[in-house]
Amino acid sequence: MNHDQFFAEAIADLKARGEYRVFADLERRTGEAPTARLLGANAGDVTVWCSNDYLGMSQHPGVVDAMRRAAALHGVGAGGTRNIAGTHHDLVELERELADLHGKEAALVFTSGYVANMATLSTLARQMPACVVFSDERNHASMIEGIRHSGAERQVFLHSDPSDLEERLLRYPSNRPKIVALESIYSMGGDVAPLRSIVDVATRHGALIYLDEVHAVGLCGPQGAGIAARDGVADGVDVIQGNLAKAFGVVGGYIAGSAALVDFVRSFASGFIFTTALPPPVAAAALASVRHLRRSDCERIRLHERVSEVKQRLAEAGVPTLPSASHIVPIPVGDATRCREISRRLLAEHRILVQAIFHPTVPRGAERLRVTPTPMHCAEDVERLVSALASVWASLENPVSRFGV
Ligand code: PLP
Repeated sequence: MNHDQFFAEAIADLKARGEYRVFADLERRTGEAPTARLLGANAGDVTVWCSNDYLGMSQHPGVVDAMRRAAALHGVGAGGTRNIAGTHHDLVELERELADLHGKEAALVFTSGYVANMATLSTLARQMPACVVFSDERNHASMIEGIRHSGAERQVFLHSDPSDLEERLLRYPSNRPKIVALESIYSMGGDVAPLRSIVDVATRHGALIYLDEVHAVGLCGPQGAGIAARDGVADGVDVIQGNLAKAFGVVGGYIAGSAALVDFVRSFASGFIFTTALPPPVAAAALASVRHLRRSDCERIRLHERVSEVKQRLAEAGVPTLPSASHIVPIPVGDATRCREISRRLLAEHRILVQAIFHPTVPRGAERLRVTPTPMHCAEDVERLVSALASVWASLENPVSRFGV
């Protein structure tokens, strides 16, 4: 086999489907968000409207300073896996803070949210004998990978549908171990799970509830503790999983739960055991960010004001959005090539960066633009975004084609 020819043909196929990814080479400059400098083709300043640095915490002076200080004091590497000299004190404090944020006995930090999901779900579902996992059909790839990797039996329930979940749970004997895995805010649709109903159903059937709050922590609920806390059901959720890279603006992932569960994952999860711990500057910056967002509501308030403004102005301008109940504003397109073309024109003609979202991030036919307002966007940024989208939209013959999710 000619290996390179095989690779090149696969890429040519991807390009023919309009699904080839081109990364924007960005230079983000501290204090200037949402403006960043784009390098390469179309070089120059752009307004970023698709960042997951939802609150701008990656550039927050207190967070940047915590990272700088920790690097000077403790160096830039952890020096090992958690078991082999990698458990530095910043990480221990971060785990305590996260457990406290979620009102749980313990927390465990991983190198990313992806790894937290993959490692925890694969470990729980593999180790609990004859476990069945009930997974929402729109769960993130990292949860799906974790569940698949466990080898456990899997039931995929209809998106955010407690009745379908219950109907599937009823097919199994009550003494069989079960996990119900879902997200609180779905990353690509911005919709919020009917958490109370799902927790009720899962609890009635004795299932362990695993909740990915990656797009909610720092943003929703008291002190940014997420949707489970907002809805008053955190006690009924066995595992809250979150990340440190989105609202908290740094990098890393975590779970919070009972001391026994966290100790179990710590002791059996390959993806936790066999990898170098997050470095002290990262842990210190994440800790500073979590602590700041527990005390301060102003970033959240400003974010939600901007989000309402963007949704309202887009509706007035005739640009369709999916019915999101969160800070994520998805604009349906339904075709990868068209989606990329809209994104290209926003950049080339208006200096606005909104990446096109297509397969495998969303199913084919559900391609979209995903707009994420931040507290740093000003009223003028919103006006520029809306008029740019409206003018690109108006110039397309059939901007939304056969959209389905
Ligand atoms: N869970 C969800 C719902 C996500 O959207 C993401 C995306 O980044 C992850 C988990 C993975 O988190 P991380 O980027 O920290 O790996």
